[in-house]
Amino acid sequence: MAKIIPLADARIVHGASVPAPHAAASFAPTGVLADTRGRALRDLRVSVTDRCNFRCVYCMPKDVYGHDYPFLPHAELLTFEEIARLARVFKAHGVEKIRLTGGEPLLRRHLERLVAMLSDIGGLDLTLTTNGALLAKKARELKDAGLNRVTVSLDALDDGVFRAMNDVDFPVSRVLDGIEAAAAAGLAPIKINVVVKRGVNDSEILPMARHFRNSGHILRFIEYMDVGHTNGWRLDDVVPSAEIIRIVGHEFPLEPIGANYPGEVAERWRYLDSDDAEAGEIGVISSVTQAFCKDCTRARLATDGKLYTCLFATQGYDLRALLRGSSADEEIINYLAAIWSQRADRYSEIRSERTAALPKIEMSYIGG
Ligand code: SAM
Repeated sequence: MAKIIPLADARIVHGASVPAPHAAASFAPTGVLADTRGRALRDLRVSVTDRCNFRCVYCMPKDVYGHDYPFLPHAELLTFEEIARLARVFKAHGVEKIRLTGGEPLLRRHLERLVAMLSDIGGLDLTLTTNGALLAKKARELKDAGLNRVTVSLDALDDGVFRAMNDVDFPVSRVLDGIEAAAAAGLAPIKINVVVKRGVNDSEILPMARHFRNSGHILRFIEYMDVGHTNGWRLDDVVPSAEIIRIVGHEFPLEPIGANYPGEVAERWRYLDSDDAEAGEIGVISSVTQAFCKDCTRARLATDGKLYTCLFATQGYDLRALLRGSSADEEIINYLAAIWSQRADRYSEIRSERTAALPKIEMSYIGG
């Protein structure tokens, strides 16, 4: 159990050092909160469950625990009310976008109720990342509840390659049905995330590009990252974005285009022969070969309410203890200000053999 220090002189929570919070502030927008590198807090990723119905080899490989990962008991998960309360706190510090993730977020029962509660707060861009397995069933009610967009992870079109990456017997066609249901519900533009692992699904780079070109959905290739320990990551398994662009560009000439907003993680490339800006682009997320820490405005709320200021952080701040204790919102706002203003993370920029050996948190728990 995390050790909780009274807020008045909070210095250590779950092993992470923060200064004591400042004097109480009102529960109104606090202005721009910057970390030690001048990065604002803009995005919050919320892991709503650590469970997943897939066993992707790069995330929750089956050979580690099979289907029985050491999942958190339900009572340890943040409730929807607790997540909504924290969303207000984060919004007060300038958070504009909340992404629900996991684990597989659509496994959390009645997720649409959480979406509705977050939507009621107002002024938040609400998005969700899913493997798409349950999306065909859920897309409409999520949209009706106030979800704006979805990102769907899909690592291959070929069923055999898909199985090699995701380690489930699940037809790709059902993920494609989920994508179309999301489009029909208006959860657009839809982004399709492909993690590329050398020798496993790199043969799918071109088929994926061909399939999604001019579909209206934005295909994004992600470099395989060294998140967590269970995946046994090796640098040799990473296909650099530059190589991906070369492969796609060989068949479909591409040109780079500017970011949609400061801090966008994907580099955008436009198909030269497409007139439709959105339908005709792909993205690459080069977290290994071109770290983007300097623009990172994301915080991550793990399934049990621990806050992480980096995907590679080793320690979290126990916000659930504050929620379930007697802390007022103002105190949590101040505590968050203290955490963020101390933030110095830049793991991907300093990745090395030494950092590879550091303890790491699994993606399914911290939220991808
Ligand atoms: N279950 C949902 C899904 O499949 O999209 C949400 C959670 S998943 C952890 C979120 C994203 O993280 C997915 O797009 C997944 O491909 C990506 N991801 C997981 N492990 C990764 C790794 N080692 N390197 C790069 N991306 C990874």
